Amino acid sequence: MAADDGDEKVKTFICKNCDFSSSYHYFGTKPPFVKSILLLEEAYVKKDPFSSEGGMITLGSHCHHCKLSVCCSPNCSLFYSKRFCLGCVGQNIEEFPREIQQDIRVVTAQVP
Ligand SMILES: [Zn+2]
Ligand SMILES: [Zn+2]
Repeated sequence: MAADDGDEKVKTFICKNCDFSSSYHYFGTKPPFVKSILLLEEAYVKKDPFSSEGGMITLGSHCHHCKLSVCCSPNCSLFYSKRFCLGCVGQNIEEFPREIQQDIRVVTAQVP
């Protein structure tokens, strides 16, 4: 009898913006399975299944403003010293530098 729901609980990251979901292995800034890396933000990190050298995939993080979990897609969030979901960026766009504002207007214009 194979028990595949053993000690390691599968944790799932879900982007609240686009509903992207994926299992993840670690949340924080220093994934234990990747040597000498320190992330700029606390993030949901998954081991890269295609890397034999302990690669990783950053799935997403929490919006600094509304605390929702959002993925790293440019359609869902923006990293500007902290991560923000695009909804919060849109509401506070005047607080971001001009070049960021332009990027965001381009991205949000594509959202139906
Ligand atoms: Zn997303
Ligand atoms: Zn937000």
